[in-house]
Amino acid sequence: MTVSWCGVLRPVELMTVAVHTVDLARLSLLLPQRIEIEFCSGGEHHYWGATVLDPRWCGRMRLNAGLQPREVPLILAHELMHVHQVHTGELRPVSSGGIMWRGVLYTDTANLPWEQYMQLPWEMEAYEWQEWLLAEILRLSTDKDKIE
Ligand SMILES: [Zn+2]
Repeated sequence: MTVSWCGVLRPVELMTVAVHTVDLARLSLLLPQRIEIEFCSGGEHHYWGATVLDPRWCGRMRLNAGLQPREVPLILAHELMHVHQVHTGELRPVSSGGIMWRGVLYTDTANLPWEQYMQLPWEMEAYEWQEWLLAEILRLSTDKDKIE
């Protein structure tokens, strides 16, 4: 079992796609053994996916339960880039509340407007690499289907 679940929502179809996606991503990207996914309802959360940047919960991410199954691989590709950044130590949430990126401390990132948040270096990197990871996932998925 490479993915575990927290929270009360258990959308079976999305869970199936998520496990498959994480399994394939592991072939291309260094990821922690334990990845936790919590599905959240769209009403309370205004995002499609988020990685929990808290030193107590490394490897945990949230996905919006309102996603379509076909949207899951792209959203996960982005969040898995963050999980990878945390796993390799490049991105490190610190207990005082800031975020350390390659040795530089960023504070108050949670209060930044969306446009500025997207300019943070770990976001820029995740956006830069997510297409590559998604392509890898889709390629591996196709190869696997061919074999079966
Ligand atoms: Zn991000």
